[in-house]
Amino acid sequence: MNDTNSKHAPLVIIGTGLAGYNLAREFRKLDSETPLLLITADDGRSYSKPMLSTGFAMNKDADALGMTVAGPMAIQLNAEIRTHTRVTRLEPEKRRVWIGSEPVPYRDLVIAWGAQTIEVPVAGDAQDAIFPINDLLDYGRFREAAQGKRRVLILGAGLIGCEFANDLLQGGYDVALVAPCEQVMPSLLPVEPAAAVQRGLESLGARFYLGPVLERLERHGASLVATLSDGQRLDCDLVVSAVGLRPRVELAAAAGLSVNRGISVDRHLRTSAQHVYALGDCAEVDGLNLLYVMPLMSGVRALARTLTGQLTPVTYGPMPITVKTPVCPLVVSPPATGSVGNWQVEGEGNDLKALFHGCDGRLLGYALTGSAVKERLALNKQLPPVLAELPQVLSLKSRD
Ligand code: FAD
Repeated sequence: MNDTNSKHAPLVIIGTGLAGYNLAREFRKLDSETPLLLITADDGRSYSKPMLSTGFAMNKDADALGMTVAGPMAIQLNAEIRTHTRVTRLEPEKRRVWIGSEPVPYRDLVIAWGAQTIEVPVAGDAQDAIFPINDLLDYGRFREAAQGKRRVLILGAGLIGCEFANDLLQGGYDVALVAPCEQVMPSLLPVEPAAAVQRGLESLGARFYLGPVLERLERHGASLVATLSDGQRLDCDLVVSAVGLRPRVELAAAAGLSVNRGISVDRHLRTSAQHVYALGDCAEVDGLNLLYVMPLMSGVRALARTLTGQLTPVTYGPMPITVKTPVCPLVVSPPATGSVGNWQVEGEGNDLKALFHGCDGRLLGYALTGSAVKERLALNKQLPPVLAELPQVLSLKSRD
């Protein structure tokens, strides 16, 4: 496409998750004219993904968690939204994407297609009873399958596994967790706060099988039998897979874009291809692939400005994560990967304050449980930013 034609082509956003829709909103505040096309593999309902791990406690099904369907969203955003439509190829050198055999030109392209659930290999005849829950459609399928059932086995004891455990326990389910680690949330928490969360979930009835993995899942009449790698056998009715997410990078890599864990972007969210940006769970910003809402929203605000002619770098302040385990409230701000220093833990029972100090004594991270969470605001003020502001000269540098 030549430059004159591309100026009239739409801004194309792939994905209508929190990244895609929030960017579209923010962009429209600054530009009401440029044609806007959103393409999504799902039904395009606007919803808040963090609410998916609160639905059983609040007794909300997928329809109750979905906020606005695609039609009204298109009107609100003055945009075209193509639902149940999967982008199958990127062709940045011709400034277009492909939906099957249909080429779609763009002025600028924003990839906001998120991350996908990691599949674990499990033997046996009951794989269809394993439910990943990474979007509203997944949640709807799981809720339907869970009707009339009682015993749920959760694979994974990370943040999402623990949140689902708390939610399902509050919703009246019997919950067991299996994970190949020695403590819950091993990548986020030191031992003591992890033990506090585990104790809290156990107080609601959760059973933990830490160390083994699920090897086999078989039907025995109306029930399932899960065989773990250490030989233990557990009866259950359903399995939730919460073993982790992997940013979607395959189509980007096939089109020649630089990828690492996520799609590599600079501080202006620019990929290695001209006029192509990436945002949200799929993006690795200056080496950081953070699968949370706060970094995504910082990206949204900066990118909307960049796309309307005001080149704006993304900055991240401290990024504490509030984990939705109300039985043992938890707020954590993990130290940056590779930080050198020590955890120090104080407090009693489930009310713990764990602080991570660097060698020079500076606070680099924390984990607060129980009543200690009230200290988070004061501690946030002492933390370094996750992505500091760029020196002026770098922030003004443009690639084209
Ligand atoms: P997604 O929401 O995954 O959206 C991706 C979009 O891309 C979808 O519309 C999909 O259909 C579309 N798509 C994918 N491939 C294609 C294709 N080829 N063509 C067209 N469209 C495509 N974060 C927090 O900060 N706090 C929390 O409390 C929290 N709780 C969470 C609880 C759960 C259960 C989960 C799963 C996540 C939670 N997170 C939380 C993480 C947070 O929700 C995500 O970081 C965020 O929602 C990611 O948004 P996204 O738009 O990047 O991706």
